[in-house]
Amino acid sequence: RAPVIAIDGPSGSGKGTIAKLLAEQLGYSLLDSGALYRLTALAALDRDADLTDEATLTEIAGNLDIRFELRDGEVAALLEGRDVTRDIRMERVSMAASKVAAMPGVRAALLECQRDFRRAPGLVADGRDMGTTVFPDAPVKIFLTASAEERARRRFEQLRGKGVSVSLRDLLEDIRARDARDMNRETSPLAPAEDAVELDSTGVDIDGVLQRVLRLVRD
Ligand code: C5P
Repeated sequence: RAPVIAIDGPSGSGKGTIAKLLAEQLGYSLLDSGALYRLTALAALDRDADLTDEATLTEIAGNLDIRFELRDGEVAALLEGRDVTRDIRMERVSMAASKVAAMPGVRAALLECQRDFRRAPGLVADGRDMGTTVFPDAPVKIFLTASAEERARRRFEQLRGKGVSVSLRDLLEDIRARDARDMNRETSPLAPAEDAVELDSTGVDIDGVLQRVLRLVRD
């Protein structure tokens, strides 16, 4: 079985960036599992589906026509052949994704799809339940955290770089609300696997975190 490096943690912990750099360094495939929930949400919104109807959402998740492609060094997400890389990052999709992710039927429907990403020489899997549910046998499990304040600050800088003006306080509130939803849901709540190594990236830059993760992978 190809090895899996599971990287879980709350939104804004930097795990997406770390997972991508790690996959590049190791020549591994990359699974952005959050994108699958976002794609499910977008497909549902496109169809005007009732976002509280679990049966419909489960059906949508189980029949997604999606593809990930490398375009100009970035991973592009395609839904029914259409490039939706930017669309799935929109606020209304984020909100919908967090709702559909709370449905056990949706999570079950996406399980096989996620496991299909495992291939030689290895996979870096980024999400919330990679180490606990999707790849419980992953030889390396990392739970990446950072304080809510630091995650809000990072998001603030990121948005400012794009010329978007938002208040730091609103961002902090958003992050706290999303953490609460992720941690309190019944199916696969956000929590480290028993055998995960917890890394706190508060006050550590990307390269510092990457070096620590690489050390764990090599040990
Ligand atoms: O990580 P990202 O923000 O893209 O995830 C989008 C949504 O999908 C979040 O609400 C998150 O809780 C959910 N998610 C999940 N399980 C995963 C990955 C993401 O429930 N493995």
